[in-house]
This record gives sequence, C-alpha cells and structure tokens, in this order.
Amino acid sequence: MILTTRPECNVTVEFDQKKEYMQTEEVMALVRRNIRNLEPYSTARDECGMSSGVFLDANENPFGNGSNRYPDPRQKELKDRVAAIRGVPVEGIFIGNGSDEAIDLCYRIFCTPGQDNAVTIDPSYGMYRVAADINDIAVRLVPLGEDFSLPVDGLLDACDSRTKLMFVCSPNNPTGNSFEEKDIRTLLKNFRGILVVDEAYIDFSSRRSLVSLIDEYPNLIVLQTLSKAFGMAGLRIGLAFGNPQVMELFAKVKYPYNISSAAMSVALGLLDRDVQREVGLIVSERERVTAALGSMKGIEKVWPSDANFLLVKVKDPRGLYDFLLARSVIVRDRSSATGCAGCLRITIGTPGENDRMLNLISRYLNPESFVDNYQPAFRCALISRRTAETSIEVEVDLDRRGSGGMETGLNFLDHMLDQIAHHSGIYLRVKARGDLQVDEHHTMEDVAIVLGDALNKALGDKRGIERYGFALPMDESRAMVLLDLGGRVEFVWDVNFTREYVGDVPTEMFKHFFRSLGCAMKASLHISAKGENNHHIAEGIFKAFARALKSAVRRESFCYDLASSKGVF
Ligand code: PMP
Repeated sequence: MILTTRPECNVTVEFDQKKEYMQTEEVMALVRRNIRNLEPYSTARDECGMSSGVFLDANENPFGNGSNRYPDPRQKELKDRVAAIRGVPVEGIFIGNGSDEAIDLCYRIFCTPGQDNAVTIDPSYGMYRVAADINDIAVRLVPLGEDFSLPVDGLLDACDSRTKLMFVCSPNNPTGNSFEEKDIRTLLKNFRGILVVDEAYIDFSSRRSLVSLIDEYPNLIVLQTLSKAFGMAGLRIGLAFGNPQVMELFAKVKYPYNISSAAMSVALGLLDRDVQREVGLIVSERERVTAALGSMKGIEKVWPSDANFLLVKVKDPRGLYDFLLARSVIVRDRSSATGCAGCLRITIGTPGENDRMLNLISRYLNPESFVDNYQPAFRCALISRRTAETSIEVEVDLDRRGSGGMETGLNFLDHMLDQIAHHSGIYLRVKARGDLQVDEHHTMEDVAIVLGDALNKALGDKRGIERYGFALPMDESRAMVLLDLGGRVEFVWDVNFTREYVGDVPTEMFKHFFRSLGCAMKASLHISAKGENNHHIAEGIFKAFARALKSAVRRESFCYDLASSKGVF
C-alpha cells in the first residue's frame, strides 16, 4: 500500500498498487476541490419531492399550456427508458444538453483551469479541444497510427501527473474506425485519470458498447447520444454512463433544468419507434456507397467505416466539395485534419440522397462521359411529422422511379399509394402509424397532408415544370383528374360510391384524402369518376391522379419559365 497525494486537491489517497486499476476513492480524489465541496442549487421540485399538488413554490405562471411548469431536473422518466434500453442502472446515467454538455462537464469537474491537462487522439471530434480551450485546459494531441490505429503507448506517454482526462472516440469521427476493447482496457488499467470513451456512433458498429465495463473501472465514462442512430439531433440529448458517484457529480454541476420538458416528451415518444430498421438501412447503404465509391476511377481510398459516414480520399477535395455544394449536396471537407489530406467526410443519407451524391461524384470524376444536364436543385423531400394521433414519414423524389414501400396500417391505402408511385414514375415511400383503433380518419388525413407537403417541398419554386396534368384511364370505370400546380387551392369532387368500404378504407375518406392532399400541395384538383365497381372507381382515381401528377411535375425542355399569368409564381 502506498499513499499518493494530489497537491492540487489536497487529498491523500491510499492506493493499492497490487490492484491493477483505479478504485473509486482514487477517482474521487481527481475531482476539483471546489466541485467536491460544492453545495448544488436545490430546485423547488427537489425540495418538495411531490409530483402532484398545488404548486406555489417555483414562481411559475399557474395557467396550464403544456410548458408552464419547470421540467423534472432529474429526468426520471427519460432515465428509466434509457436505463431499460441500454441495460444500465439509473444511478449510472447523466443526461445532458447534447453530449457536448457532458464533454464540457468533464473538464469543469476534473480539471483546474490553467493547471491540468487532457490527452486525446488526433484527428478526432473537435469539441474535446474547444471545450478544453474554453476551460483553459491544455490538450495534448496524439496522432493516430498508420491506418488510423490507436496509439496506446503514445497516449500513455503523453500523460503526466496533471493529466486528468483522456478522450478516445470509438468509432472515431472523422476516420470512422473503432478501436479494440483490449486496447481500451490497457488504457483504463494504466492511465490514472478519467478515460472518456465517446460512443456517439456505436449503434452503427458491430462492436459491443463499453458500457458493460463501467462496473469494473470507476475511471471510465462512456458518452453516447440520441443525436445519431436515434435520429434526435434537434432535441439535444446526450448521455453519459459511469460510476454512480461520478454521475452524481455531473448532476451537481449541470444547470438544474438542463433538459426541457418539450425535448423530454418528444424523445420519449420517439424512443418508442423501431430505430433498428433505420440503422439497418443506414448500415446497408454505407456498404453499398463504400462499394460504389470504391469502384470509381479517381477515388483514391474509402476507409472502412463503423459509423454513419465515410472518409473518402480524392485528388482534389476542394474542387469536389465545391462541385457538390453548387449542386446542393453538402459534405464536409476534412482535408486539413491530421492524416486526412485529400479527404472528404460524407454522411450516409437516404438511398435517394446517396444516389444523387454518387451520381454527382461520378460526373465530377469522369466529366467526359456525361452530357451536362446540370439541374440547379434536387427535387426530393423527406418529411416526418408527429402529432398526438399519428406519426408519418414520407419521402419523395420527383426525378427517380420506384416505391420505397408503403406502411400505413391500411392495406388498401398502401396498395393505392403504390399505384401513385408506379403510375407517376415518382419515387415514393410512406410510413405511417396512426390511431387506427379510433378509426381511419386521422391516418388517412395526415398521410395526405404529409404527402402533399413533401410533393410541394420537392417542387421548390416550380419553375420550368409543366404545371398542368390530366388523365382519363379506362378500366371498366372512367376516372378523370385535372391538376394545376399553379399555387391556388381549389377542390371539386364528383364521385359516388355505393359501398361503405373498399377493402379496409371507408369510401367517404377518399374525398377527404384528396381534399387534404390538394390543399397541402397548394394545387387545384378536380376529380370525377363513374363506374359500377367501387374498387375500380377508387383505383381509377388514384391512377388518374398519378398520371396527372406525372405530367404536371415534368420538366419541360421547352421551359414555361413563368408558368402563371396571374403572378402566382
Ligand atoms: N461525439 C462525437 C464523436 C460527435 O461526432 C458528435 C457530433 N457530431 C458529438 C459527440 C456531439 O453529439 P451531441 O449531438 O449529442 O452533442
């Protein structure tokens, strides 16, 4: 047994050298003295411990509007969900305003400004350095090895008695690779400070998370986030997992109400959905894009990635970056980062977005094989909308064919949406979850609204399109749809159904569907249909609408630049 004294903390710790790795007391001795002695702000809600009652304790406005009360400072409900999803105890979780907050708190809790230092790999996530600079902490950057391997010895050699923190990002941003668990264990055993492993991209990796090592190593903090795989970057919810005593320090130092009630309630709702489907699609797209780029002449290297982005080396990164930017595809130029000369970082998007990017890169690298049919903007849109009754996602691409699958919970509606995709020649994907236990109304209405919004967004300023569309397909029924995308909203419906339902859709909802669609598209829509068979009437209307849409959105080489004489455009 030896005694170590940390003069800056004024604490003497018994440190058992036979134990390979740090014990909790030694970890707590790293904490800045002012933080260890901090008396945290006690919120009104913490003091009373009540979740219901007449609240006259926090100087709030008493009139309810959904946001008039302060949020739960301990985020109990969200922590319970995260604990269940990640299989960790609630006491071992900190929830921050993005993982950027957790990074900043690491410095504020463990590092004395102007005296202590931190060590990290280079290149890596830029906030480790920025947060250090803000806190006046020196950062020692240790370059990654050949092919971006982890410099275990280099990291340990860079430490001295004032090194309190070490940041290792795995999978690493921007290189995309992740590091071996055994190497992280070597760091944990040999570094006598806090090792922060940033797993922002762990859900895209086949490696396991190191959260399971927290019981073994009290000097380990694992960062994760809801911004990436969980698709909630706009909510700003970051996660830190660690020894409960360390996480309690985070709770003491954070702003009392660091997560808003709006962010928490949206996050709780979004955590209900199956992210594995999206993650699976992103991972399979990553592999497809890796292969496609790898086979292009002019691409010097595509690094294998465990994340949702690729690091790609080209001869002229700035030229390619500018070419893509001018065509509304935005990637990140990382060519000035250590070891990344010539590299762009490309995030994996939807299949449609990836196709666009691949197509443009191929064009840039092999200009002679393309006629320059440069079009200023991509006509695609992805809209997600969530209300109390429905959650809808619609993706459209006016210049690509195909169906990305329809899932609305209504079989006949799925079939009709497939007809729209097929007959319009427009890529369409619709995913909807609605309160069908109530009835079909909200689901049909909201699918129509979001589809209309997506079409409208994809059309942009509508310059150069045909604008008008009409069709008269003949099954045994006759359906006619007149469509004008000029911007004025008008709806005329002349259709009679004799049955109450076609499949699982009430026939009265067809009128409501098209009225909502036309309104969201800002279109004038006239629909009439006659026939004996109700199924054919409905199908005829959807097909006719699709054909009308196909003509109306078409770009004309003879361009009607000002499509309206009424000054609508
Ligand atoms: N860690 C890494 C490695 C990142 O790349 C990012 C953001 N790009 C973050 C953390 C920040 O995540 P958050 O949105 O939770 O602040």
